[in-house]
Amino acid sequence: MRIAPGGLFSEAEQRLSPNHDERPEGASVDLLVIHNISLPPGQFGGPWIDDLFRNRLDPGAHPYFREIAHLRVSAHLLIRRDGALIQYVPCDQRAWHAGVSCHDGRERCNDFSIGIELEGEDTTPYTDAQYQQLATVTRALLARYPGLNRQRITGHSDIATGRKSDPGPAFDWARFHALLSVE
Ligand SMILES: [Zn+2]
Repeated sequence: MRIAPGGLFSEAEQRLSPNHDERPEGASVDLLVIHNISLPPGQFGGPWIDDLFRNRLDPGAHPYFREIAHLRVSAHLLIRRDGALIQYVPCDQRAWHAGVSCHDGRERCNDFSIGIELEGEDTTPYTDAQYQQLATVTRALLARYPGLNRQRITGHSDIATGRKSDPGPAFDWARFHALLSVE
């Protein structure tokens, strides 16, 4: 898995989201945040995540979409149920994934983190293909960003406590960390 200059994964499908900007002066990437998303909640497949991240979600397509269609959000990467990798924001740029957040006393985690969305929900097991792809992607990120290491991988729920619950109890952290050790 190769990461081109700017932080573009050569093996990802590129679907650039406008919802990103420059990281602050001097900020370096030193945190990886794992998320989940499914639209509508609990349903997999469909164009809706793409649409949300690219500001063209149809508020009339589902009652839930009315609540979120106005949001301006993104993540660097999405891993679909079948393991397909989609990139919305180059990793060197700041994606808008964490919202109000705090890690180790530092707020605004978007400034210094990379956000990866797993297509899923908190209590539905993630797929084998997702774990494999996440481990492959994470190894590439660890190799590229010196500030990242295995201790600096966290869940959205851990940096937005009480506000966010993803990736949820379904995410098997031990399995993920074990896969990181496999070359
Ligand atoms: Zn999240």
